[in-house]
Amino acid sequence: MYEDTIGAIATPMGTGGIAICRLSGEESVQIADKMVKLKKGKKVRHMPSWSMALGDIVDPDTGGVIDEAIILVMRGPRSYTGEDVVEIQCHGGTLVAQKVLSTSFRLGARPAEPGEFTKRAFLNGRITLDEAEAVLDVVTSASEASLYQAGRRLKGEFGALVEKWEDGLVNALALLQGPIDFPENIDPEGEHEEARRLLDKLGKEMADILSRAPLGLALSGGVEVCLVGRPNVGKSSLFNALLSRDRAIVTDIPGTTRDVISEKTEWYGLPVVLLDTAGLRPTQEVVEAMGVERAKSAAQQANVILYILDDTEQLQDEDFQWLQSWQDRFCIAVITKTDLGAHLVDVDILDERFGDKWVKVSSVTGEGIENLKQMVHGMFTSLSDTEAVLPGSARQVDCLERAYQAVKDALYYLDEGWTDDVVVLCIEEAAQALMELTGKKVSQETLDRIFSKFCVGK
Ligand code: GDP
Repeated sequence: MYEDTIGAIATPMGTGGIAICRLSGEESVQIADKMVKLKKGKKVRHMPSWSMALGDIVDPDTGGVIDEAIILVMRGPRSYTGEDVVEIQCHGGTLVAQKVLSTSFRLGARPAEPGEFTKRAFLNGRITLDEAEAVLDVVTSASEASLYQAGRRLKGEFGALVEKWEDGLVNALALLQGPIDFPENIDPEGEHEEARRLLDKLGKEMADILSRAPLGLALSGGVEVCLVGRPNVGKSSLFNALLSRDRAIVTDIPGTTRDVISEKTEWYGLPVVLLDTAGLRPTQEVVEAMGVERAKSAAQQANVILYILDDTEQLQDEDFQWLQSWQDRFCIAVITKTDLGAHLVDVDILDERFGDKWVKVSSVTGEGIENLKQMVHGMFTSLSDTEAVLPGSARQVDCLERAYQAVKDALYYLDEGWTDDVVVLCIEEAAQALMELTGKKVSQETLDRIFSKFCVGK
């Protein structure tokens, strides 16, 4: 439990109907008691938990009335943070709310840091770390699909699944450690077989959720779609056509785009972050070379790569090399400038070597642009399953990937007949990664990173 009491305005800045000033901590009720005069002479400190009352907010030094407000008292542990919480609903002017808050500071509260209410809820065991992250996802959700998944994570559905896996790992450990601890009583063959079956099942379940992770991440932060290709093939023109506005500079001079340009948009309800990049070519020019490096790394990190090909030129060796290197990714070959009627890109070769992941477009006539958006949309919605609950942050996916890898290692060592202590180590590593996911074991640095993304008052 924290000693100090924190305060912040929990509603957005600006004028509105009401503003909520929130206090949390051991002294929140006493502080409110000193600055609120309830009607009929009642005292805030006598208010039952989860009750509200009308009162005047008064300056403790002058006795002057600052505002009339509704006071809500929620005593710990049954509150958002797990501590005593008082919410003061005052009129929604910026100055009024600030005066109410500064009065609470004069009486002993201190300004809350970003996300500190939710951080306390986590540290006091009210919510798990994945649920805390879901709070932010719910607040920032911009599409129905994002909100639906964030809501499920907030209710603890994802955390419950992870805990079920954790239990499974503990059971597998018990099966393997039984023969180590009591070698004379237990048949190691049978126990091994059972542990193997269990680990196999857990691994498959994790792999299934991991295969859908790109959708979860995309819904949380927007699908990153990166346009790459040789200089002058038509990337910036396509970038503009996909955004329906002139955002990037288009010229017939190769090497115009130097840095990565990013814009947010939405395709059929899918939140998209579109990236335009420098043309891929060897160059001695320092700034352009930096741009090319950035283009490569943007493509590496993106959820979807659009490799742009100019229909007025034949496929070149480097096109094959790039397409080959991204074959296991969500990569679409986009043949542009089709309005010029040259048709020099051999689609039969693309079909043969890369399957049907290509599309023809024209940034000038707009032909094929909607088709391309639908292809990207389809790639992600095909991962969706209304039953599956998805991870919502790269951190969660990283923990899950480490757990999955450790389970696979455990299975490998079991199959290869290694000694049980090696297998046990792998299972412990998997359990550790899952505990990091839900926050049972987590570093201060990770916590700081997560909560710094929150706004003050949340
Ligand atoms: P980037 O260097 O790959 O970004 O290519 P740009 O978008 O700057 O385009 C290079 C040249 O091709 C410009 O002169 C564009 O006007 C032209 N261009 C790009 N896309 C199309 C298209 O779909 N049709 C036609 N006719 N010209 C295009």
